[in-house]
Amino acid sequence: MTNPRYKRILLKLSGEVLMGPDGVAIDPAVTGRVAEEIADVKAQGYELCVVVGGGNIFRGLAAAAKGFERATADYMGMLATVMNALAVQNALEQIGVDTRVQSAIPMQSVCEPFIRRRAVRHLEKNRVVIFAAGVGSPFFTTDSGAALRAAEMNCDALFKGTSVDGIYDADPKKVAGATRYDTISYDTVLSKNLKVMDASAVALCRDSNIPIVVFNIREHGNFAAVLQGEGVSTVVR
Ligand code: UDP
Repeated sequence: MTNPRYKRILLKLSGEVLMGPDGVAIDPAVTGRVAEEIADVKAQGYELCVVVGGGNIFRGLAAAAKGFERATADYMGMLATVMNALAVQNALEQIGVDTRVQSAIPMQSVCEPFIRRRAVRHLEKNRVVIFAAGVGSPFFTTDSGAALRAAEMNCDALFKGTSVDGIYDADPKKVAGATRYDTISYDTVLSKNLKVMDASAVALCRDSNIPIVVFNIREHGNFAAVLQGEGVSTVVR
């Protein structure tokens, strides 16, 4: 049974959730497990959009710090997200979930270009739509792409699937005793500069009134549980 609060949702996957334990950028087994979490939720009747990051392969900012021209590096990062989108598509279709990939940078031999009305039609036809290449411009991130697509696709919430189970007052991997927020306001996230999503993504969600749910997608069953209002997460609203 679906949670009536959320009919159409957008799932943002960081590229790192596709990584294998040995550092392989796209691990088929790990990607397959993420696909199963998505398929479980899809089977419950939700309309699902997915935005995939590219940080497991290439990050523009990090490359620019080592001497790459920033815009070029960002385009490379966006291409990385297309690879990840195809990997997620492949994993979903292997378990019988119908999908379409739409890229903000048109590449007609590989996937569809982003066309909002066509994306809506895919959802109506029970397909998962995977959005690649972020917003299609350098100096942005896929978090901003996720917030933008969530707004224009009229999603009821943005679910950010990561490898931590929510937002903490300090980095839980570095600070013992860091505490997780159950809920937190957009403005607190922005004023405390909490590293959840970049500021432009948080501001766009705030202005569009889209709650952001941060949760651990690597934990089996957690995506479905969090959608039902159970499971561990932090809700930004
Ligand atoms: N990127 C970009 N514009 C966008 C989305 C992404 O330039 O609209 C580039 C940017 O270089 C970024 C990289 O693509 O570092 C990978 O995306 P991101 O870092 O958001 O991936 P994630 O951290 O979610 O894995």
